Amino acid sequence: MMRIDIATLFVDMCQTVMDTSIIGRAQKKGVLTVRCHNIRDYTLSKQARVDDAPYGGGMGMVMQADPIYRCWEAVCADAGSRPYGIYLSPQGKVFTQHKARELTKHDHLFLLCGHYEGVDERVLEEIIDEEISIGDFVLTGGELPALIVADAVARLCPGVLSDSVCFEDESLYRGLLEHPQYSRPAVWHDKAVPDVLLSGDHKKIEEWRFEKSLRRTLRKRPDLLEEVLLNDKEQKLLDKIRAESEAD
Ligand code: SAM
Repeated sequence: MMRIDIATLFVDMCQTVMDTSIIGRAQKKGVLTVRCHNIRDYTLSKQARVDDAPYGGGMGMVMQADPIYRCWEAVCADAGSRPYGIYLSPQGKVFTQHKARELTKHDHLFLLCGHYEGVDERVLEEIIDEEISIGDFVLTGGELPALIVADAVARLCPGVLSDSVCFEDESLYRGLLEHPQYSRPAVWHDKAVPDVLLSGDHKKIEEWRFEKSLRRTLRKRPDLLEEVLLNDKEQKLLDKIRAESEAD
């Protein structure tokens, strides 16, 4: 079972999100454990300080090494082993669905959320295995990135979603975007749901969905098609769609 520990200065923000909806229910079902820790609880300073000015001068404050290290030590002691340490940082590799899947191979993740100007480098050297960014922009803190990583990883863990088809079928799982989705009513604002979806013919529906998935990926994210593995039949279909769109 996956365990995720989040070390933060804003514990309520993380706890609220992780206790909500699918991830919250997964915890109640006992198929996932998420623990959020307030780094401030681990400071030895009387004023509960967790940050200080950067050596060498400059703007802002830096999160100190010791409270973070002590928080990590408490997590290690509780788990009886060293978790895979991730620092959410704009300097990390950009997070992808592929990375989310890769992280499910670990059974315990420790996510460190920075704030202010960042974190004392020395503690990162000791406890962090990997830095992850959620995109090439800078946020005020690592909480939103940590929640994004935790959510994306948790929903891939066994038992979190009701059926593995839920994610095996969707965008980016096999490197393609998902086909369009429709629900009741069958006609809305004069727009009818495609007939094939009402036909009950599962083979035809699968073929239609796959073709739509290829068409969407070609239109919205053609870069993804460079990486995707297609069998001969699928490749022929893609070639046909490409030829059509060039002819348009
Ligand atoms: N001075 C740092 C730098 O230039 O690398 C940026 C610090 S940022 C204002 C504060 C914290 O927000 C970081 O320590 C990190 O935890 C988090 N953060 C900001 N942008 C992020 C991103 N794109 N991905 C992941 N974490 C991010």
